Amino acid sequence: MEKKQIAILGSTGSIGTQALEVINEHPDDFEVLVLTANSNADLLIQQALQFVPDTVVICDESKYQYVNEALSSKHIKVYAGQEALTQVVEHADIDIVLTALVGYAGLEPTLNAIEHGKSIALANKETLVVAGELVTTAARQKGVNIYPVDSEHSAIFQCMAGEWQNPIEKIYLTASGGPFRGKSRLELEQVTKQQALKHPNWSMGAKITIDSASMMNKGLEVIEAKWLFGLKNEQIDVIVHPQSIIHSIVQFQDGSMKAQMGLPDMKLPIQYAMTYPKRLSSSFPRFNFLDYPSLTFEKPDLATFRNLQLAFDALEKGGNMPCILNAANEVVVQAFLEDKMGFLQMSDVIEECMNAIAFIQKPQLEDYKKTDWESRQKALDLVNQQGSFTIFGK
Ligand code: NAD
Ligand code: MG
Repeated sequence: MEKKQIAILGSTGSIGTQALEVINEHPDDFEVLVLTANSNADLLIQQALQFVPDTVVICDESKYQYVNEALSSKHIKVYAGQEALTQVVEHADIDIVLTALVGYAGLEPTLNAIEHGKSIALANKETLVVAGELVTTAARQKGVNIYPVDSEHSAIFQCMAGEWQNPIEKIYLTASGGPFRGKSRLELEQVTKQQALKHPNWSMGAKITIDSASMMNKGLEVIEAKWLFGLKNEQIDVIVHPQSIIHSIVQFQDGSMKAQMGLPDMKLPIQYAMTYPKRLSSSFPRFNFLDYPSLTFEKPDLATFRNLQLAFDALEKGGNMPCILNAANEVVVQAFLEDKMGFLQMSDVIEECMNAIAFIQKPQLEDYKKTDWESRQKALDLVNQQGSFTIFGK
């Protein structure tokens, strides 16, 4: 069998490094063709020396020379900058592009990969949140498959195998509830970034970990699910399942429900996205029922975790509203990580951006770019206006 040639956009992150672990475990199945990173030059160099890809891209142009010199003896092509990130996916030999980079930055490389007929293993959910219609329409036109990496969407995808002719009645996306499940708004006023960064079940990059604490992650995933599986808004429900063992559920027309289960380990959905419809062996730990005598379920608390409600609102409104939500969220998460704002204020800023930025019903790529920029500027202004804000617990 020919080895699948993989391009990993964002190879130095949580998903990227786990993807390399999967590849390392299956050297007969995969080969690394492209690696990219934003600014972590040392890890990118280390990965490139180990996997010897054809090409690497470092987005931070100031690190180009450093990376280039470190890799010159291996004859690895080195490029730098955002433009190079978008173009590198065009490499003729790529079979799958794993989009493991974080945020809006994933949109243009993903669109270009689709344009060039590359299969997508999609971890970068923000791409589908921002421009789900544009991206899925382009994929359909080009006959390109988008394989979900997000564990909930992988679960739905695994439940759908062999069921493609059967309409979905409903899906339930499971949510762990994050580190602040059960807390009141009063308690949330006091929480620090250190607390928010401690997820009970998953170890992930900083942005998605904050999104999980605020439940924005689940909101983004609802929008992601709509586009991946072609669902109506009312067909998507969220259920809190604190143990993170059931990764999501599909309900069919006859009332039958299929769920996908396993220990929370992103290597499984990463691997499945790269091997579908095949399953490969894995060395990941196995689930033991007796370690989990009860699996429990709760209704999400939309009044406390307003970000999830805001995401439902953005989905309902459609057009560029999810793009506005996403851009404002990226800004406030960064500000929260820099101790510039409190946990609850994040929702206030996002909501104000959703009210302030011009609504566009049928946006094109240029509209998304403009909306993203405007929403970021508005969110930044609002964050800066909070000058008198004091961080509790510091
Ligand atoms: P991370 O922060 O750990 O890694 C992000 C990677 O993207 C790094 O390699 C970084 O160098 C690169 N990057 C960051 N900003 C960039 C930019 N502006 N331009 C180019 N490259 C950039 O993030 P992560 O946790 O691995 O998450 C990656 C994506 O996968 C996110 O969209 C996240 O929502 C999604 N996801 C992650 C997990 C998880 O377990 N970590 C689970 C499900 C979905
Ligand atoms: Mg997820």
